[in-house]
Amino acid sequence: MLTKDTAICIRTTDYSETSQIVTLFTRTTGKISTIAKGSKRPKSAFDGPLEVFSHGQIVFFDSSREKLATLAEFQQAPAFSCKADNLFALNCCLFGAELVNSLTHDYDPHPELFDSFLQFLHDTNEGQKAMTLLILFQLTLLREIGLIPILNACANCKTSHGPRVTSHEFYFSSSANGLICGDCEASFPDKIKLSKNAADCLANAKLLKGAEEKTLNEIEKILIHHFTEILHRQPRMAKYVLSSGDRG
Ligand SMILES: [Zn+2]
Repeated sequence: MLTKDTAICIRTTDYSETSQIVTLFTRTTGKISTIAKGSKRPKSAFDGPLEVFSHGQIVFFDSSREKLATLAEFQQAPAFSCKADNLFALNCCLFGAELVNSLTHDYDPHPELFDSFLQFLHDTNEGQKAMTLLILFQLTLLREIGLIPILNACANCKTSHGPRVTSHEFYFSSSANGLICGDCEASFPDKIKLSKNAADCLANAKLLKGAEEKTLNEIEKILIHHFTEILHRQPRMAKYVLSSGDRG
């Protein structure tokens, strides 16, 4: 069956001298693995070799979902412009792509996740603060795949985290899937203590835009810990996002 879709390339590997295996996150079909025959030839149906973050309109053919689909066309939209100028922003985008690849299933569409991934790539490459955008995208991803932690109340006793209980201590526990209050923390050996700023930002994501770098790093560490628990391994790109480097 020939299918048209909109796609973002999230992984490529060389298949032969001239062809690539390309993992695409598509808007209406979900993630698909395709073979792009002849994509590395100077003249191909794909506007040149496909790279991670190539995006645009595709046509693909799949006879069976058990086998690789064949990419027939890829009309590439203009590439994100400045990704090569800012290594940290590029690493944040690669981390986003890795998480989409690891946490979504083939042929399981998430159109809203697709839209926010495209927007995340766009905004990051426009030079907006990459760490803030990465955190917001990671929270959207967790929500879309049904794994969003409870972030506005204690996941155990449901005490709400709000302005009236600012004296409460809050922790994050991956096993509890959310925040844990000071009264419950003893039951969760995997808990990590949160600063008040980090707990506030997690409870109200709007605060992330004005958060200090220290708070953003703290939250990203918590999210990486959570993704590591979900995947049973640390995401490959995690260390590039947490190592201190120049931040855009
Ligand atoms: Zn509690």
